[in-house]
Amino acid sequence: MTTTETRVRLLDNYVGGRWTAASSPETLPVTNPATGETLARVPLSSAPDLDAAVRAAREALPAWRAVSVIERGRRLFALRQALDARREDLARSVTTEMGKTLGDARAEVARMIEMVECACAVPTTMQGRILEDVSRNVDAETVRQPVGVCAAIVPFNFPAMVPFWFLPFAIACGNTFVLKPSEQVPLTQQLAFEILDGLDLPPGVVNLVNGGREVVEGILDHPGIDAVSFVGSAPVARLVYERSAKAGKRVQALGGAKNHMVVMPDAVIDKTVAGIIGSAFGAAGQRCMAGSVVVTVGEAHDRLVPSLREATERLTVGDGLDESTDVGPVISEGARDRIRAAIDRAAEDGAEPVVDGRDPSGDLPAGAYVGPTILDGVRPDMEAAREEIFGPVLSVIQTGSLDEAIEVVGRSRFGNGVSIFTESGAAVRRFRHEVQAGMVGVNIGVAAPVAFFPFSGWKDSFLGDLHAHGGDAVDFYTRKKTVTSRWFSSGQGSGKYFVEN
Ligand code: NAD
Repeated sequence: MTTTETRVRLLDNYVGGRWTAASSPETLPVTNPATGETLARVPLSSAPDLDAAVRAAREALPAWRAVSVIERGRRLFALRQALDARREDLARSVTTEMGKTLGDARAEVARMIEMVECACAVPTTMQGRILEDVSRNVDAETVRQPVGVCAAIVPFNFPAMVPFWFLPFAIACGNTFVLKPSEQVPLTQQLAFEILDGLDLPPGVVNLVNGGREVVEGILDHPGIDAVSFVGSAPVARLVYERSAKAGKRVQALGGAKNHMVVMPDAVIDKTVAGIIGSAFGAAGQRCMAGSVVVTVGEAHDRLVPSLREATERLTVGDGLDESTDVGPVISEGARDRIRAAIDRAAEDGAEPVVDGRDPSGDLPAGAYVGPTILDGVRPDMEAAREEIFGPVLSVIQTGSLDEAIEVVGRSRFGNGVSIFTESGAAVRRFRHEVQAGMVGVNIGVAAPVAFFPFSGWKDSFLGDLHAHGGDAVDFYTRKKTVTSRWFSSGQGSGKYFVEN
C-alpha cells in the first residue's frame, strides 16, 4: 500500500444499519476546494448497491410504521441532541468539503438541526380529521399513513441542511429513507449517518448510497421507491420530475434560480448594502437563494452602487476555515473556470465589471477562487441577467419604476426567491402581491428556509406541488385515507342528550 492510499479514505454506503462497501470499483476524489487537497474517495455505486438499500428500506417499513408516532418523535428528539453535540464537527466538515466560511457553515448546521426540531412535532402535525354525522349515525374521518420508501437526491451547496429538508420528516411520518448525497460533498452526510448509526433506529430505516448519475437514474426507475425528492440544477430537476412521474412516484423537484433584489429609492442604504452583500457573496454565491441580480428603481442606482462597490472591495477571499475570510472558494476548479468565462461573456455583451473578481489578489493557496464581482449596466436580455451563474457574481439592472422592476423579475424563467428593499408599505404590498416567486424577502437579502414553513420556488425553479419542509412535508410524506363508518349497535340518535332538566 502506498502512503497516499493509507491516507485517503474510501467512503462506504450505509445499508440496513451497516456500513457497506459499494460493489462498483469506480470512485471519484473528494476535494477541499480551498486547497485542492484530496480528502477522501467516494464510490460511484451501481444498481445492485441501490437495490440493496431499497430492499433494506422495504423490509424495515412494517416494523417502523408500527412504532408509535410518539416514540418516533422521541427518536427525533434524540437525533436532535446527537446532532447538537456534534454541530462544530458538522460545520467544519461542510467548510472543508464545500468551501463556505465557518460562519455560513455553522448557520447551515443550525438550520439542519431546526429541521429535526420541526419534525419532532409529528404527533401533532400528522393528525387527521374527523366529522361526525356526515349522514345520520355515520362518521367520516381522514387518517394519514406513510407513503413507503422515500428517496432524496441532493446538491453540493448545502451538504448538511438540504438532506435534512427530507430525512427527519420522512421517518417521522413512518416512512423509510434512502439518501443519495452529492458526490462532490459526501463527507458531511457520512458524519450525519455516523450520528444516526449511534441512535436506536431499527436497521434499514435510513440508508445512504453514494454515487452519481447511475444511482439517480436507478432511484427514478426503481419499483421499490414510492416518493422522490430532488434538489439541484433545473435540467436535472426536469429529468427527475418527468421520469419519476412516469414511473408513478410521488415527486418534488427543486431546481435552479436567478434571484432578483429590487432596491427602491427610499431604501435604507447601509442596511441594504449589507443585505445584498450577504446574499450575493455569502457561500461564494452558491446558494439557491443567493441574490444574483440587483434591480434598482430610479435614483436608487446612484445612491446604492458606490457604497456597494466599496463594501465589496473590502471583502477578503480565502479559505473558509480562516475566521477572517468573507468569501470562500467555489466548489471546484471547473466551476471557477465556468464562472470566469461567464464574466468574460458579460463584459463582451457590454456589462461593466465595476468590481472584477476573475483574478483575486492576495496570498491564496492553490484552490478554486473567484473574487466577488459586480457587473453594472446589465440589460434584462443579456445572459448575465438570465442564466444562473452560481458564483459570486452580481448583475445590476437599472429601471425607472416599481412596475418596470416587477416586469424584469417576471421575465425570468426562474422564480425561486426575490427581495425588495424599501420603507414603503405600499410598495411592499404591490410587490408581494404581484411578484412571481415562491420565497419573498422584505428588507431581507436571503429569504432563507425556515423549517416550520414550506420552502420552494415557482416556475422553472420547482416542479411538483408540495414544497419542502413545514406543513407540506407531512402532506408529501403521508397518504390520506378517508374512512366512512357506522355502528349498528351504537344506540345513538335517540336525542336523549338534549333532554332538558
Ligand atoms: P446538480 O443538478 O448538478 O446535482 C444535483 C444532484 O443530481 C447530485 O446529487 C448529482 O449527483 C445529480 N446529478 C447531476 N447531474 C445528473 C444527471 N445528468 N443525471 C442524473 N443525476 C444527476 O446540482 P449541483 O451543481 O449539485 O447544485 C447546484 C444547483 O442546485 C444550482 O442550480 C442551485 O440553484 C440548485 N439548488 C436549488 C435549490 C432549491 O431549493 N431550489 C437548493 C440548492 C441548490
